Amino acid sequence: MTEPSPRAAVVDWAAQIAEDLDFAAARAHLAENPGRKAAGYLPVYAPREIVRAAGMLPVGVHGGGDRLEIIRGDAFYQSYICHLPRSVIELAQSGRLDFLSAVLFPATCDVIRNLSGTWQLVSPEVYVRYLDLPQGGASELAAEFWKEELGVLAADLGRIAGRAVTGDSLREAIAAYNAVRSLIRELYRVRRETPWRVPSEELYLLLRAGETVPLEAFVERARAYLAAVEADAGRVRDKARVVVVGAFCEPPPIGLIKTVERAGCSIVDDDFLLGNRMIDGDVPLDGDPLGALARAFVGRAVRNSTLYEADPEGKRRLIGERVAAARADGVIFASASFCDPALLDRPMLRAGAEAACIPCIAFQFAENTGQFQQFREQAGTFADAIKLWGGE
Ligand code: SF4
Repeated sequence: MTEPSPRAAVVDWAAQIAEDLDFAAARAHLAENPGRKAAGYLPVYAPREIVRAAGMLPVGVHGGGDRLEIIRGDAFYQSYICHLPRSVIELAQSGRLDFLSAVLFPATCDVIRNLSGTWQLVSPEVYVRYLDLPQGGASELAAEFWKEELGVLAADLGRIAGRAVTGDSLREAIAAYNAVRSLIRELYRVRRETPWRVPSEELYLLLRAGETVPLEAFVERARAYLAAVEADAGRVRDKARVVVVGAFCEPPPIGLIKTVERAGCSIVDDDFLLGNRMIDGDVPLDGDPLGALARAFVGRAVRNSTLYEADPEGKRRLIGERVAAARADGVIFASASFCDPALLDRPMLRAGAEAACIPCIAFQFAENTGQFQQFREQAGTFADAIKLWGGE
């Protein structure tokens, strides 16, 4: 049997981990490191630096995708909300998340807020924390508030882990995640410049796997992937360059990402697994580390539908700014069905895009959507329209 290429080896590794609903990689890591504990976190953004500084393994919980049969999860939720909380509860009820000693629920939307309460009912032995992320823009007050929240979280996780969070452990964790952020920025840059070299399904799988394994394992594989990509110029493909907006929480099925790109679009920017890129740039390592982390979020969080903007024109301009930065030809608004933050923002974002004469289409998905024909036709027609008539 021939050995897979270095790039294929990384993609195979990532696919295996990203699609594993039993979190075998995380469990194996804990088994190899007796005494180490894991903390899960829901989308979109959780301060993983604090988890690492407490000596715990951060584990992203992004639902069950299209491979999990929902048996118990439906009993907890009405039919007219998104799919993610059902599959998360299904994962929990089936024991697949029983290796987590803590679970963090960021203030993404009411569904995640309610999920934190449900979790406390079904798993009372697990530490649950609702992360009340500051809203309302950059201010000293917001930074001070968030720093205090981070301090409480650090104290709690330190107690659970049996290892107090210190200034040094925080600085080490911030430096480690600065390296991750820098690698991910580079991956996104290479895809933006040469999208035929970095298929979005591969980038997605790599990032998704990276949220389940120790950071060092991700860094090693991401560097190997980048080196393999740089060594291979690939075959230039002239597709329509698109920004995919709105899939920042419940992830689309991987088949949907593949379908969009095989239908003639190159995704050159997106919201997938946005927590990885939520802080724009490095977090400073000098001074008070909690304060630096708090100010980085308050001052430099990437604008998205889970964050309030006081200026109503800001959201109308946002798509034009993203399209310009990505040198995109058009926008695909793709959000989970019943996703409040995405769908409430969409009219404003779309109006702004249309006012700027940016071609756009919109559709909704669920993490377990299995039929892609409709998306293939929509994305294919969109790509053709952009290539033939500039999207008119
Ligand atoms: S998909 Fe949307 S509505 Fe559902 S939990 Fe995520 S942000 Fe909330």
